[in-house]
Amino acid sequence: MVPNNPQPERKALITECTIDIALWLADNTATIARDETAGDCYRDIKTIIDTIERVINRPIPDRFLGPCPATIENEHRCGHALTAPRDANEVTCRACKTVHNIDEITQRLWSEVNEWLLTPQEIHMVMEYFGEPVPASTIRRWKHEGRLQVRGWRDGKPRYWAGDVRSLRNTGHLKRMTAV
Ligand SMILES: [Zn+2]
Repeated sequence: MVPNNPQPERKALITECTIDIALWLADNTATIARDETAGDCYRDIKTIIDTIERVINRPIPDRFLGPCPATIENEHRCGHALTAPRDANEVTCRACKTVHNIDEITQRLWSEVNEWLLTPQEIHMVMEYFGEPVPASTIRRWKHEGRLQVRGWRDGKPRYWAGDVRSLRNTGHLKRMTAV
């Protein structure tokens, strides 16, 4: 029979083990230093610490750049998902090997996303994704102030364009908001 909730017990065991090992090491530093295997001991511990650091300091995930827009055989669009490190200027599609300029790809992606019918929360997430963050509360305020116009309806609720929020952001409305 499977125990109801084995997780806390296992966690407690790991914590106790770690504390025991740390205490043992602290108590025996001088003894280890005198031992001829001190070098091995150091390397083992160093490996463990490096592993822990790698787990904690995860590399920043690549940026998703949308589907590859290259036209391949039979006028079909490649469509392979493009990802690249955040500081890259170019990305090579793994499927069709086309090299794309990331600024161009982002502009193209924007032009596709600009007129999607979205909620303020969804627009907030899109803006954050593109590195042009606007708090969801600000988008809602623009909506109440009538700056942000309703562009359509989905599930009986008004929807807005990320492109409109982007224009408001880039015309200085955000600066005024953050200055308060
Ligand atoms: Zn491609």
